[in-house]
Amino acid sequence: MAKIKRKTRRKIKRKILIGGIILIFSVITIRGFIEKHNINNDKSNITKEKSSFNNKSVDSTNYKNTKNIILVNKDFGLERGYEPEDLERVEVTTNKEILLRREANENLKRMFQDALKEGIYLLAVSGYRSYEYQEDVYNIEVYTNGTEYANEYVAKPGYSEHQTGLAVDILAVNYTDMDENFENTEECRWLHNNMHKYGFILRYPKGKENVTGYNYEPWHIRYVGTDHSYKIKEEGLTLEEYLDY
Ligand SMILES: [Zn+2]
Repeated sequence: MAKIKRKTRRKIKRKILIGGIILIFSVITIRGFIEKHNINNDKSNITKEKSSFNNKSVDSTNYKNTKNIILVNKDFGLERGYEPEDLERVEVTTNKEILLRREANENLKRMFQDALKEGIYLLAVSGYRSYEYQEDVYNIEVYTNGTEYANEYVAKPGYSEHQTGLAVDILAVNYTDMDENFENTEECRWLHNNMHKYGFILRYPKGKENVTGYNYEPWHIRYVGTDHSYKIKEEGLTLEEYLDY
């Protein structure tokens, strides 16, 4: 009897062991399947986002954006991994290497060439910035001046429009200070009067600080394409107002 019992117990143990192994394998297989499925989903989303400059920002699901233009501001940010695939080195007058998305880059080049014909010497000073770059800038600011100051003056990582690869800071060859007095230069006047013809808009206009969340920045322009830039210019809107319109 004792032997039989032992045998039965051994059998049961073996069954439990086999059952356990099958269960573990099933879990691994199912998890693998789910992960694969998710990865594929993520990939297709990223490809979709990267295929055009018209796309949504990560947090914009609640935002009324019927025009499907990417919006990045203090409320709507981008993921750490967001990096446009079509970034190119700009071929205009700069003080360092600057990257922009292809379509923005082509139009920037045309704009600089046309400006030059009129004796306007524009200078590109900043374009695409990665999440990690912004993270460093932000952390250094927090370390040196504290969180409150950093939040006031520096975009948090993921919340800089420069991460879209569609924003560029423009100054003049003979005026390289990033301050409001740039607006008194010939270059700034030309830029503000003409950039919409090349698909660019002034992103942080004077008097719209409450809408954009940013102080007036006469140098920071954003590519949206001429389908939108003319309307935005004519109506005197910010990107936020235009997307809400
Ligand atoms: Zn800027």
